[in-house]
Amino acid sequence: MQAYKIVVTGRVQGVGFRPTIFNLATSMGLKGYVRNDAQGVEIVVEGEKAKAFIERFSDDLPPLAKIETIEVRKVPSQCFGNFSILKSEEGTKRTFISPDMSVCPACKAELFNPTNRRFHYPFINCTHCGPRYTIITDLPYDRKNTTMDRFTMCQKCRQEYEDPTSRFFHAQPISCPDCGPRLHLGEYEGYEAIRQAARLLDEGKILAIKGVGGYHLVCKAQSQAVAELRKRKRRSKKPFAVMFKNIEAIREVCDIQETEERLITSKENPIVIVKKKDTDFGLEAPDIDRLGVFLPYNPIYVLLFECIDFPLVVTSANISEEPIVKEEEEIEKLRIADVLLWYDRKIERSCDDSVAVCVEDRPLFYRLGRGYAPRSFKLSNLLPPVLAVGAQQKGTIVLGFDDTLIVSPHIGDIANIASFEYFKKVVEDFCKMYDVAPQYVVHDLHPMYETVRYAKSLGIQTYAMQHHLSHVYAVLAEMELSHHSMKDEKFLALAWDGTGLGTDGAIWGGEAFIEDERVAHFGYFDIVGGERAIKDIRLCAWSLARKHGFEMGDELFALGYAKKINSFTTSSVGRLFDAVAYFAQLTDRQEYEGYTGLLIEKAYRGGEDRYDFYIENGAIEIDFTALIKDRKERIPTRFLNTLRDIIVAMAKEYDLPMLFSGGVFQNKTLLTIAIDKLQKAGIPYYFPSLFPINDAAISLGQLWWFKNRFEANP
Ligand SMILES: [Zn+2]
Ligand SMILES: [Zn+2]
Ligand SMILES: [Zn+2]
Repeated sequence: MQAYKIVVTGRVQGVGFRPTIFNLATSMGLKGYVRNDAQGVEIVVEGEKAKAFIERFSDDLPPLAKIETIEVRKVPSQCFGNFSILKSEEGTKRTFISPDMSVCPACKAELFNPTNRRFHYPFINCTHCGPRYTIITDLPYDRKNTTMDRFTMCQKCRQEYEDPTSRFFHAQPISCPDCGPRLHLGEYEGYEAIRQAARLLDEGKILAIKGVGGYHLVCKAQSQAVAELRKRKRRSKKPFAVMFKNIEAIREVCDIQETEERLITSKENPIVIVKKKDTDFGLEAPDIDRLGVFLPYNPIYVLLFECIDFPLVVTSANISEEPIVKEEEEIEKLRIADVLLWYDRKIERSCDDSVAVCVEDRPLFYRLGRGYAPRSFKLSNLLPPVLAVGAQQKGTIVLGFDDTLIVSPHIGDIANIASFEYFKKVVEDFCKMYDVAPQYVVHDLHPMYETVRYAKSLGIQTYAMQHHLSHVYAVLAEMELSHHSMKDEKFLALAWDGTGLGTDGAIWGGEAFIEDERVAHFGYFDIVGGERAIKDIRLCAWSLARKHGFEMGDELFALGYAKKINSFTTSSVGRLFDAVAYFAQLTDRQEYEGYTGLLIEKAYRGGEDRYDFYIENGAIEIDFTALIKDRKERIPTRFLNTLRDIIVAMAKEYDLPMLFSGGVFQNKTLLTIAIDKLQKAGIPYYFPSLFPINDAAISLGQLWWFKNRFEANP
């Protein structure tokens, strides 16, 4: 008799993998067992069709499963009497944590079936959907290692949990109205709480709603409540995301392309930034022509939208740039919401919504959280335990060990205390859950970053990695991890963004690399005003104007410029956008990160018109004299076209495929017109679509650089 042992690794626990195997094996008349172990899943099959089973089982996986490796070995037959699912093996903890997933179609159907015992039950979930990352307290992924631990399963749930043919089989957060968490709004509970919430929203109240990864602040879109929310949140311009009942409702107010629709309706359910039609949504996203839209992703929101017929502003509850609030006391302390819609299951660690745009037919991520992260990968070579701590803004961490790499979800701007505490928790949780003690840590060059101080305090060997080269390595990592066909080529890699410390002490941000060599950058200029110039972009514009011989700015500025008071030298393209937005009279304040870029995009008119530029001894210079003197309404279009043509000219000059990295390329218009021209010129290019193009990918780049270095000299 044929007998085989199969070891499968990857995202194979907590995703309904064992029931699928059980069903297939029994249907093929095989004997043996399947069980979770520390590495993943172990299967032993015996019988006539054992070989056929091996060929078939990976074709029909449950939706959340992702196999990284399969190892098959012939073993002596043990003459099993049946096929069974055995209890988990304890041991070292090397399985991947799944991200939190949106409610699946089967659960949605039960939610609205009046004869089902989970009819209108806001915590329905199964092996294919529901919370994971935000409720896990330890590995392996078992009920006792989640915040569902304190809810005792009722008889019926227990039966489903133990039934290998049920889609609730080993669904760790399984529950029902009799035994699970409860939803509350004042004295109301369950579905009644949702109906009350709907009524209050319609009346214009602001609600705090406990979502999967933390609290949202929610109010009726296109109503006075939005203005009130802005006032209470003290957030004047930064856009709010809007949740719609369904894709048709989005289509009514936004122009969406097919790829955008696919992303919006995908099982990951991210916020997708799309183009507004000529409808108002002026308070939700002031001054700009985009809107972040998404669909209800958990049973609470799905049920809520059954009771209302208008879209909702749904924004993370936090103090700007701090992590999303997850505790009842914290949300009370914020004093923003009129009413709380909450439940009594603890969120172990917060996790934000993911945010993306579509460029060509691919997503371009701004933030990875719910639905996508943590993200894990198998490597072909072994690594010693190593931690990469990222930069300062848009913090994420990456942990590498053995043949595994784990990328955390979005943590936030680590400059503030709350985010730094959360950052430390994520590092500690990852190390604890995977039983890893890092021997090496990779950090940014900037001595003032909290992440750098933290790395140095660990007492292990540290490596400092230049910020923009980390951007480039992050994209190389993605190409290799996704087995992209261009991965072995040599590139001209652009890293254009806001700020990052260079190896010469200047603030870089307009760099081009070939391998590890910086081959070109935007011409340096001195900005007076230090950190203040990031918000007060007049300082940035006046500084650039002075470099080109214009006497701009007030007396105080002139004095500061002459004496170089609080000034820094930079090649940042991000700062050029700020200056140009001022010259074009679009704004004199950076209301939030990326604001000037969005204004310039909105004013862009297409065509070929541009300013002169030259690239000499690796320094890129734009004819800012012409730009500053130009008619203001022509500036945005000509500026973006100039950047586009610089990209194409460089690709031609170096005769290499182009690789895009850095926060500037979150500018969809710039990236789109640049790749359009590259395509026409037959120049290959790559931009990241697994990981964000901004500073959220710095940790990955740091780790990838370490990996390459380690493989070259272990
Ligand atoms: Zn489900
Ligand atoms: Zn139950
Ligand atoms: Zn950066």
